[in-house]
Amino acid sequence: MNIFCVGQNYTEHAKELGNEIPKEPVFFQKASSCISKSDVIKIPTGRIIHHEIELVIVLGYSGSNISIDSAINHISHWCLGLDLTDRPRQNEMRKKGLPWFDSKSFPGSAVITEPEKFNWKNIEEDFWLLNNDQEVQRGNINNMVFDIATLISRLSKIISFKKGDMLFTGTPSGVGPISSGDLLELFSGDHMKGSFSVVKA
Ligand code: ZN
Repeated sequence: MNIFCVGQNYTEHAKELGNEIPKEPVFFQKASSCISKSDVIKIPTGRIIHHEIELVIVLGYSGSNISIDSAINHISHWCLGLDLTDRPRQNEMRKKGLPWFDSKSFPGSAVITEPEKFNWKNIEEDFWLLNNDQEVQRGNINNMVFDIATLISRLSKIISFKKGDMLFTGTPSGVGPISSGDLLELFSGDHMKGSFSVVKA
């Protein structure tokens, strides 16, 4: 199973990080061993970790060179996720022009809620994140720079998908650090999809 991610796929988020709006999707990966469905998020010692709520799609069929028109047919499930990120480390590596692998891949850094059967109705709802009852992020697929079909099609021209691969589709603005004691609650529309308490590792 692969975890693919896209960076800066919401204009306001690209701006808050001081980046330009990309002209092509910026893909990267998280190690598949980083997937966590545990309701506890452990902050690795000495790291500053930011939350990034994202809509996650699960690919149900293998494929490559997929057209935009047929891309959606390759989705089987969806869920919400947190692309946990060591922001200082990411910034440091970016500045040096180096890969930001270890800012994105550490144990438990790819948090997901229970995947559900794909349904447009569900993913067209706003998705949003509460941190200790405060709304910190809210996104909607209508605000994506590259829509889901385009992302799947472009990625499939770079690599081949395998059944079960996941795509984190980018985070809206409002990213920020999490601390031990925080309670993160992920919503889609009126439904809470997952709740996670943050502790020190
Ligand atoms: Zn992300």
